[in-house]
Amino acid sequence: MEARNVKAFGANAADAPLKELMINRRGVGAEDVAIEILYCGICHSDLHYARDEWHDAMPTVYPCVPGHEIVGRLTEVGSAVTKFKTGDLVGVGCLVDSDRTCPNCQAGLEQFCPNFTLTYGSPDKHTGGVTYGGYSESVVVDERFVLRVPENLDPAGVAPLLCAGITTYSPLRHWKVGPGKKVGIVGLGGLGHMGVKFAHAFGAHVVVFTTSPGKKDDALRLGADEVVVSTNPDEMQKHAGTFDFILDAVSAEHDLNAYINLLKIDGNLTMVGAPEKPLRIAVFPLLFGRRSVSGSPIGGLPETQEMLDFCGEHGITADVEVIPVQQVNEAYERLLKSDVKYRFTIDMSSLKAE
Ligand SMILES: [Zn+2]
Ligand SMILES: [Zn+2]
Repeated sequence: MEARNVKAFGANAADAPLKELMINRRGVGAEDVAIEILYCGICHSDLHYARDEWHDAMPTVYPCVPGHEIVGRLTEVGSAVTKFKTGDLVGVGCLVDSDRTCPNCQAGLEQFCPNFTLTYGSPDKHTGGVTYGGYSESVVVDERFVLRVPENLDPAGVAPLLCAGITTYSPLRHWKVGPGKKVGIVGLGGLGHMGVKFAHAFGAHVVVFTTSPGKKDDALRLGADEVVVSTNPDEMQKHAGTFDFILDAVSAEHDLNAYINLLKIDGNLTMVGAPEKPLRIAVFPLLFGRRSVSGSPIGGLPETQEMLDFCGEHGITADVEVIPVQQVNEAYERLLKSDVKYRFTIDMSSLKAE
């Protein structure tokens, strides 16, 4: 297949709504596959990028097309492709390339490659422009960055696994969450609800922290063993010094110290949300307890495949609200109010209907 123009949905300026536009996709190279996109999840990063809110770190190039939670079917494979055949159900997450030679790439930790190519907003080595994400009819990706999606899962619910899923799966695995471990999940949004599902599936005792008492029933349904309303100091104090691990999925400013005090000796709190401003951390509770605070971004390709396979075996998908692409702007507004259970997924066939 030669390079061609395809329909996409994107923004032409930071203050402009997303709308239909045409973008160019490269031809299928020997090691590439072409994917017809069925579903694309909406990640909070999409909104930040579309509105140029990460200007200092990664200025948005317009027109921009977000989307890094892609599920689709292979329509074409390059002559040297070995992993896939036409018709396969596949996924693409936050990365579409890396240098493949650095120690991190060699270790399958492409998320730490200093030269990775993001699915959207990175310089595109092939076209010379910028990469365009999954709010689109189709995409061409090197097979190394394409994941196999279990056929038994609902593809709409699989899409968010490619970012929200691996972002929570990876630190839970890294910190060896499993049977006998007491694990806290802070915040029950797109990330948090996946954290609950995975921690529960790994066999841990799962405690959800939320500021909204109304989320209790839902937290229990998702797999929590207990729910703590974090604004109640007495409820918090009951759990002091008892957690092996806490996954903090809150992006808004909040008090980490309240959670650090809940960790056991050698307990760890890992941040997967990204508050804009620096947080204040009291050091004494870290010293007296040898506790640690860390962060974690997405995951490498091998671990992302492991996560998808795990989801296939355990029937795990994200809880999604499926929308047509024409409702993306409205979905962004609702995302800002956390008005979604728990992730929007765009049915990309709606783009063809335009
Ligand atoms: Zn994301
Ligand atoms: Zn690398």
